[in-house]
Amino acid sequence: MRAGIFGGTFNPIHNGHLMVARQVLQRFSLDRLYIVPCRRPPHKPEASLAPVVHRLEMIRMALPADARYDISDVELQRRGPSYTIDTARHFASRMDAGDALFLVMGLDAFLELHTWKSQRRLLETVQPVVVTRTVDTEGPETAQHRMQAYIRSHLAGTYVYVARHRCWQPAAAGQAIHLLATDPVDVSSSQIRRRVKAGKNIAALVPTAVCAYIEQKGIYR
Ligand code: ATP
Repeated sequence: MRAGIFGGTFNPIHNGHLMVARQVLQRFSLDRLYIVPCRRPPHKPEASLAPVVHRLEMIRMALPADARYDISDVELQRRGPSYTIDTARHFASRMDAGDALFLVMGLDAFLELHTWKSQRRLLETVQPVVVTRTVDTEGPETAQHRMQAYIRSHLAGTYVYVARHRCWQPAAAGQAIHLLATDPVDVSSSQIRRRVKAGKNIAALVPTAVCAYIEQKGIYR
């Protein structure tokens, strides 16, 4: 079993998320990709957060009919802030020896890993898949250099870069860290919320059904 965790606020889900999901499934030959909306992100203001029921419904309508996608409410059920280590442990506990568990994260998030709760334990539990966002600021080469510098200074001496696979292998026991240079889709949820608020069109940024839902429910106005 090869599974991935793709967490986020999904406020709302957009074409960038969908592209990442598609490419992670394909590149890592996943059997399952858990889409994990968080209830209360530790690092983002709550004011503009749409109710869970809307965020979930938009995820449901956005995902293609593909049995490998699985929407998980594990973080919605939990009280308090959503910590990735708790989510990773949840999924890891359901896997067998020899299974692989991946964790999708943006480059910006990876470069902040030292501030995360139990980050060492997290790196023993999952294989991070670091995705880039825009060509100009985070093209594959730039991303690789930034990750290399970060790994050197924060995870000193324990990883070896394997250029062929764009990944860092642990020198001893542990999990690999991957860089996935995705085809960038320059869209963010905050950009969508701003556009909706300003009465601008978002049809090119989200699936048609999500666009209609936001309008119909009057979300983000
Ligand atoms: P916001 O603009 O509200 O901060 P967001 O667009 O970054 O939201 P999140 O739900 O916070 O969306 O993102 C979840 C994950 O998806 C993060 O790992 C983020 O880096 C990644 N992601 C979001 N948008 C893109 C994109 N356009 N391309 C690649 N990765 C993305």
